[in-house]
Amino acid sequence: MIHVEIDPNSGFCFGVVRAIDKAEKYLEQGKTISSLGEMVHNAQEVKRLESLGMHTISCRDIDAAENENVLIRAHGEPPSTYKTLKDKGRNIVDATCPIVLKLQQKVKKTYENHPEAQIVIYGKQGHAEVIGLVGQTRGHAYVLSLPEEVKKLDPAKPVFMFSQTTMPLEGFAEMKTALEAYIKAEVISYDTICRKVAHRVPEISRFAAMHDVCVFVSGKNSSNGRMLFNVAQKSNPNTHFISKAAEIQKDWFTNDISVGICGATSTPHWQMEEAKKTIQAFFI
Ligand code: SF4
Repeated sequence: MIHVEIDPNSGFCFGVVRAIDKAEKYLEQGKTISSLGEMVHNAQEVKRLESLGMHTISCRDIDAAENENVLIRAHGEPPSTYKTLKDKGRNIVDATCPIVLKLQQKVKKTYENHPEAQIVIYGKQGHAEVIGLVGQTRGHAYVLSLPEEVKKLDPAKPVFMFSQTTMPLEGFAEMKTALEAYIKAEVISYDTICRKVAHRVPEISRFAAMHDVCVFVSGKNSSNGRMLFNVAQKSNPNTHFISKAAEIQKDWFTNDISVGICGATSTPHWQMEEAKKTIQAFFI
C-alpha cells in the first residue's frame, strides 16, 4: 500500500496562518474585510480568500475602500498606516505576527533610547516588513542588504543592527562582519531572523531523504519555492515540481512506496492535501 505523508514543516508559517484565520473569522460572520496588500504571495490562496468576500487594497486605496474593517498583514505596518486608518475611521484588524510586533517594539525602543546611534535593518528595501520596521525610527533607519553597503554609514557612530525576519542566516553573519570591520565605534547586532523559516532548508532536505519519491508543490514564480525545490531534489533526485495537483503523473509512483509532499513558505496546506488525495486516488 502506498504511504503518502505531508511535510509538517512545509507551507505557511504560523504568522501567516494566524492572519488568514483572523480574516476568515470576519468573513464567516458575514462581515466584509479589506487586506492592506496581498495577504500571501500565492495567487490561488488570495483568489480563495477573495471568493469568500475579502478585498485586497493598497495604502493608496484606503479612502476608496468600502469596507470599514481593514486587516494589517503578518508583515506589519509602520505607525503612519495606523494613524491614517484611525483618521479615516476604519476598524483595524491587526494580524501583525507577534514575532514581528516584538521586533518593531525593540527597534522603536532602541531608536528612542540611543539617538546618537545608527539603526541598521538587514533586509530588502521596499519589503513590507522592512517598511514597518523603518517606520519605528521615523524613517531614520538604514536598510542594507549587501555587506558593501555599510559605506553608507558614518564609521564614527555606533550601530545597532536588526534583521528582517526572513533573511538568510549566512547573510546576517556577513553583514555583521562587514559592520564590525568598517565601524570604529560599538556595533551591537541582534539576530532577529525567524527560525520558523530559517530552519526550512535542513528540514526539507531531511524530509525529502526519508521518502522514495517527493512531490514539491509551489507557485512557478516563487523564488523561495525554486530554492527549496533544489534543496529537496539534491537530497532526493526523485523529487517532482508541481504547481497544482492536476500535474501529478501516476507513473511517478508504484504501489508500496513512501511519498513525501512538501512545499514552499507560500504554499497553502490545502494544496498539499489536494496533492495527497490525488496520489492516493491512483491506488484505490
Ligand atoms: S516572523 Fe516568522 S512566523 Fe512571523 S510572519 Fe515572519 S516568518 Fe512568519
